[in-house]
Amino acid sequence: MALDRSNPVPNDLSAFWMPFTANRQFKKTPRMFVSADGMYYKTSDGRDVLDGTAGLWCCNAGHNRPKIVEAIRQQAGELDYAPAFQMGHPKAFELATRLRDMAPEPMEHVFFTNSGSESVETALKIAIAYQRAIGQGTRTRLIGRERGYHGVNFGGISVGGIVNNRKFFGSLLTGVDHLPHTHLPGQNAFSRGQPEHGAHLADELERIVALHGPETVAAVIVEPMAGSTGVLMPPKGYLQRLREITRKHGILLIFDEVITGFGRLGSSFAADHFDVMPDMITCAKGLTNGVIPMGAVLATKEIHDAFMHGPEEAIELFHGYTYSGNPIASAAGLATLETYKEEGLFERAAELAPYWEDAVHSLRDCPHVIDIRNMGLIAGIELDPIAGAPTKRAFSAFLQAYENDVLIRTTGDIIALSPPLIIEKHHIDTLFGKLADILKGLD
Ligand code: PLP
Repeated sequence: MALDRSNPVPNDLSAFWMPFTANRQFKKTPRMFVSADGMYYKTSDGRDVLDGTAGLWCCNAGHNRPKIVEAIRQQAGELDYAPAFQMGHPKAFELATRLRDMAPEPMEHVFFTNSGSESVETALKIAIAYQRAIGQGTRTRLIGRERGYHGVNFGGISVGGIVNNRKFFGSLLTGVDHLPHTHLPGQNAFSRGQPEHGAHLADELERIVALHGPETVAAVIVEPMAGSTGVLMPPKGYLQRLREITRKHGILLIFDEVITGFGRLGSSFAADHFDVMPDMITCAKGLTNGVIPMGAVLATKEIHDAFMHGPEEAIELFHGYTYSGNPIASAAGLATLETYKEEGLFERAAELAPYWEDAVHSLRDCPHVIDIRNMGLIAGIELDPIAGAPTKRAFSAFLQAYENDVLIRTTGDIIALSPPLIIEKHHIDTLFGKLADILKGLD
């Protein structure tokens, strides 16, 4: 269909089955972005919308960044695609080295994927195969957490803990158990940074391990900060405790850093921020600034080396994707990491965090607000749900924000904010000023 530039919204929206969207509602009153630059999206009706969410927690360097755009352009004209199996191309190796150099020290190897969901599947498979490789073949059980989000593939929804993402899709993986979530609003509401209460919830792992037997458990996977279920911070001491218990029982610890990776909390990765080292890290999103799909699993030398035995011509891990380390994605990744470094964006996020924190907590006395949580450049504002109509109040806030030229994101009755790390103080003032007005006018 030819695009009518004077009216960029296509006449027929029916073919595209949109992901995680109320399709029928959307198609009655579509919300379309047609371009983006810096901190702003441009809508099809010509408005500039302030990006309070870095797209979907991914455009950490903001939009239309020249270095990234140019790298993609050049790479497309030079080497568009190279087979991912039994062949290589330089940029995938360069990007893996760069990632290793910026990742927490024990992470020495990088397996490329195309999304956060694929990174999770990959890490879970590596965990089970690793245990087998070291003679622990009975360790096949995986442990996730309630309210965890690990993407939408079968492994991820099995270890994940979001009811709607699980209940429609059959019996899922067997041999999975879940830790309790760490959201304790009664004790921790309006915490700034890590909440005081809840480290003891990690001890539930001891109970789960005792129930199944440690010799059956391969790995525990958690988001160090749970983003998609409403920005849930780890209580003080919680991640350290998980690390101690997993180590004690020979269980791998996987941090799903698809959101927390690449500066969101003011460090390269949350593992550095919390000073807790997992055995594997999954990432995606900010790896390429969200511009080209790409994800990665970072693994320790110990894990990697456990596979490197047997005849040299033997494939060590029977896993991979057609687009693992795709040349254009690799070029975008390299340019993205350079942009972060050149502009000091992770440090910038750390510097701005106190201003961000004060701004979000200024909403405390607005109507309907029952909790506020924040860390780095991320925040969750929890609203009291309308009786009998959960999610409606927050979704109305989202629609009103969009009409008022601000992009926010809602999950349940929680507003989640995660702006590009190039945000400036005046943007923060605009974002929270508008949000305060919207909250005051909400039913
Ligand atoms: N893991 C976490 C922690 C996420 O937040 C997400 C997406 O938001 C995913 C996995 C899935 O990533 P993707 O949508 O790229 O598959």
